[in-house]
Amino acid sequence: MGDFRERVNMCCQRTFSCFRDPEVDTPPAPQKRHIEVITNDFTKAPTRQLPPIPAEKPGYVYVALYDYTARTEDDLSFNAGDKLEPLNRGDDSVDWWFARAITGISANKTGYIPANYVALLESLDAEPWYFPETKRSDAEKMLMSQENNNGAFLIRNCESQAGELSLSVLDKGKVKHYKIRKLDNGGYFVSRTRNFPTLRELVEHYSTYDDGLCVRLAEPCKKTVAPETHGLSYNTVDHWEIPRSSVKLLRKLGAGQFGEVHEGVWNDTTSVAVKTLKAGTMDPKDFLQEAQMMKKLRHPKLIQLYAVCTLEEPIYIITELMSHGSLLEHLQKDRGASLKMSDQIELGSQVAAGMAYLELQNYIHRDLAARNVLVGDNNVCKVADFGLARVFQMDSEDENVYEAKEGTKFPVKWTAPEAIHENKFTIKSDVWSFGILLYEIVTFGQMPYPTMTNFQVVQQLPKGYRMPCPLNCPKYLYDIMCECWKDLPADRPTFETLQWKLEDFFDMDVSSYDDASRY
Ligand code: AMP
Repeated sequence: MGDFRERVNMCCQRTFSCFRDPEVDTPPAPQKRHIEVITNDFTKAPTRQLPPIPAEKPGYVYVALYDYTARTEDDLSFNAGDKLEPLNRGDDSVDWWFARAITGISANKTGYIPANYVALLESLDAEPWYFPETKRSDAEKMLMSQENNNGAFLIRNCESQAGELSLSVLDKGKVKHYKIRKLDNGGYFVSRTRNFPTLRELVEHYSTYDDGLCVRLAEPCKKTVAPETHGLSYNTVDHWEIPRSSVKLLRKLGAGQFGEVHEGVWNDTTSVAVKTLKAGTMDPKDFLQEAQMMKKLRHPKLIQLYAVCTLEEPIYIITELMSHGSLLEHLQKDRGASLKMSDQIELGSQVAAGMAYLELQNYIHRDLAARNVLVGDNNVCKVADFGLARVFQMDSEDENVYEAKEGTKFPVKWTAPEAIHENKFTIKSDVWSFGILLYEIVTFGQMPYPTMTNFQVVQQLPKGYRMPCPLNCPKYLYDIMCECWKDLPADRPTFETLQWKLEDFFDMDVSSYDDASRY
């Protein structure tokens, strides 16, 4: 046993010290990891110069889709429905536009606006009922929320058939879904008996007559939850080392292995989460390199890194704030009181969606577990702390981490065997951890391998031992877990596959759609 432990220790000496081993991992489209050199001049020049207003106006008018309250003196406040004219829009990759408000609370003022809060006037994107990137389950949650009345509706991209659209309608407390089919000549129909040249005309028609739908379309679904802006403001997109004085800590939300997490406010305007790192938990240079990469990763199911304060200890990591804390705490608190199996599967599919994005970006999480997923309102959950495991100098007292070498610990029960024994951390070792995370979800946050020690787990896994199917866990879900725990990393599914398998769990096929011509 002593020998074995020594061998494990040897294997783990470089744990968390590599980014991605090209020999181990065969990603579909390897991307070069690009790390920009960071200077710390940012705090000296925290405000970017405003670009000049071009003499010739581009002539585009945009309409605000959500309310926005200015966070800095360079921003414009506006309300949904206000008209805005971008004056210096840059290319499509620019997240903040310099604009003039034409109507509304800031009429005739100029300033920066988040580009993802506006859409070209009269375009499909500007339609209040158009929710293209909304998943079927999210559409159901949104339509069933208190703000909506009978007949509330939205049109979204269909998940099961790329390029197709679906109409989701609230009818007597239930949400019904209809396929919107496209004609070869560009028109649309819900029932073959009636075609429409545009979606707008289709909506107008079914807002006047139910004509085969379960109910006449009433108000579009309310757009209550504004998307995250890309970065805190125009100024912090590049200058993201922000002055510590601009961040106020309001209350402690929790404490983790490496420091504390506080609810805070940035610039006296914007709620944020602030992770304060214990002195010595990481080398600021390593962290800054990793953080350069992390801040480029943007996805609705990933916690967005907004800014950092690294010039003094403790280092601050400023991210979006999630109202319900970690998924682990959320599951343990609930214990089935409000979370049903459908919610649990949905939580898993959201994590898979965030991880599928990391997979596509050729990035490895390295510490995927329910404690590193955060929950917001309406069971929205997002993957947090991706990449941080690489830069932490592990020295915690947490019993969930296994000491492989002095100063090197990692969470054994979540870690794939090849990562434990050969230091092979890949997206496939993340898939293994995802299988454990599914176990945590389905058991409401139970410790994996509840009767075994870390060392027993390390010993038993190579002999083929796997956790048995938890009580009340559907076989389909347990089969997915077992796929994640295949011996050979290459035999484990991709996160993309895991995402659709979980999304398909509840009858996602075409037959689950209502048929308008039936009525
Ligand atoms: P960590 O140090 O990341 O393990 O975080 C410790 C605890 O702080 C978590 O278990 C959460 O309850 C809370 N927490 C961490 N990050 C956030 C966040 N972005 N929003 C809200 N709560 C958070």
